[in-house]
Amino acid sequence: MWRCKQVSHALFQHHHWDLPVHKRMGLKLHIALCVFCGRFQRQVMAMQDMARKYRLMEEEDQTGETVRLSAEARDRLRKTLGSTPGR
Ligand SMILES: [Zn+2]
Repeated sequence: MWRCKQVSHALFQHHHWDLPVHKRMGLKLHIALCVFCGRFQRQVMAMQDMARKYRLMEEEDQTGETVRLSAEARDRLRKTLGSTPGR
């Protein structure tokens, strides 16, 4: 029988799907029955999903294009912020 600490460790290893079938079934059963591990699994999945989306956003942003402000926009920004042109 899986213990909560073993479940949390297995979920963080990201290789729990490579476990033998009987161990994977025990893990799934524990997650289904344990309120804390079920909640923890959903949080881990949400974090993995966010990390995956962030990585995709960064890959899409690797186009080499740089967003630059026009000279007018820079001047307006300087006036608004009250800074002197330095760089
Ligand atoms: Zn548990």
